[in-house]
Amino acid sequence: MTISKSAAIPGRNVVVVGTQWGDEGKGKLVDWLTESAQGVVRFQGGHNAGHTLVINGVKTALHLIPSGIMRPGVKCYVGNGVVLAVGKLLEEIGGLEAARVEVRSRLRVSEACPLILPFHAALDVAREAAKEKAGTAKIGTTGRGIGPAYEDKVARRALRVQDLKYPERFAAKLRELLAYYNTQLRALDARQVDWSLVPWLRDQPLSAFVVDGQVQFDPVHEQAMRHAEQLRPMIADVSRELNDAHRAGANLLFEGAQGTLLDIDHGTYPFVTSSNCVAGNAAAGSGVGPGLLHYVLGITKAYCTRVGGGPFPTELDWETEGTPGWHMATVGAEKGVTTGRARRCGWFDAALLKRSAQVNGLTGLCITKLDVLDGLNELQLCVGYELDGERVDILPMGADEIERCQPIYETLPGWSETSAGVTRYEDLPHNARRYLSRIEEVTGVPIHVISTSPDRDHTILLQHPFQ
Ligand code: GDP
Repeated sequence: MTISKSAAIPGRNVVVVGTQWGDEGKGKLVDWLTESAQGVVRFQGGHNAGHTLVINGVKTALHLIPSGIMRPGVKCYVGNGVVLAVGKLLEEIGGLEAARVEVRSRLRVSEACPLILPFHAALDVAREAAKEKAGTAKIGTTGRGIGPAYEDKVARRALRVQDLKYPERFAAKLRELLAYYNTQLRALDARQVDWSLVPWLRDQPLSAFVVDGQVQFDPVHEQAMRHAEQLRPMIADVSRELNDAHRAGANLLFEGAQGTLLDIDHGTYPFVTSSNCVAGNAAAGSGVGPGLLHYVLGITKAYCTRVGGGPFPTELDWETEGTPGWHMATVGAEKGVTTGRARRCGWFDAALLKRSAQVNGLTGLCITKLDVLDGLNELQLCVGYELDGERVDILPMGADEIERCQPIYETLPGWSETSAGVTRYEDLPHNARRYLSRIEEVTGVPIHVISTSPDRDHTILLQHPFQ
């Protein structure tokens, strides 16, 4: 076999995952790493993800489009593992274009993405409303139809992006799917829901599609066809394009949404999201082989937060002024980007991180929001739990056992100096370095990056994932 002298050296690929319950600050890091990438890929989730980026002091929130879009020339891919609400995607494109960011020529959407349509959101909302009425535990979904869309995918009845290419087939499948959804909505007595209060698109509530608790064919169909026209030029064989780009020497960045403990298999089931958030799904959710995932960066907040229900062993009181939990919530501005919901706050959980390191095969950690801990006298680090009278050193699987875990803490001294904006490791407060070293020791994963403010430049680099 001869190898052509002009053959490009294949690119290096990095996966970024959240190692806790999401909101770890992945957006900032993805944006920062994009400097070294030619392509950024979303591989799971839907528009329930939310990244906040601060570029030159300007805040931008993205839910579906990879944040790499903010960098000119970078290609962005929505892989087959993502469930797609085309209307939301078009809204985001519109917002970016208004800020003079060129999107359409750089965005590729997999034809294998399952579609999210208004009836998915309707069922999502009707189910949570029914649970609330019955007094049973809500999952805490964002009510955007992500879960039902994944259900359709697994049940092999989903409408996918590629169906938009065949209008007659699309209409027939839509009719069938609607009959199924309307039966479910009837059973949940969806007439009780005030659909005018449930958003679908920015200026369009679900009442545009629902009459007497039943989703209507015509408005759903008409909107889908209109959206299809706009989406068409961006539809692509993303798997093939990624493999070609890799061979041609492009570095690719796989951008995980949510976090490992929200993974459908490895998270705190059933209080989880509907997709696999772990690094391995970067391959399946985009159509590259696992051998192309060269480095896995685990984004890890210097403390823990969680939105919605579900067990959280190190949770603190985060509502009482002056407490450490309140400090985290206030200084860390812990409010969801996508939903505006307050995030629960608690101490760093190294035993949880061990689970995360294991299921992701983490190469290195990026610790974010270290600056939020500035000014706390003392820090507690959870190194294991007591579970039914026994000591365990790794987070158990599933919600029931986790619910019974009593954290075992090590106390470490805090620091009064500021770490905010520090860009060199040696300039961090002594006790902050001590805290970080202990995290490395307990979790067994080296820290390669540290973030000390929302700003792109306030990042301490110890080892570059792309090098
Ligand atoms: P993501 O979904 O994982 O990207 O996380 P979010 O965007 O929901 O939340 C992270 C929030 O923390 C955003 O508002 C970021 O601007 C902010 N952030 C990221 N890194 C840092 C940091 O090192 N320090 C501080 N204070 N804020 C940060």
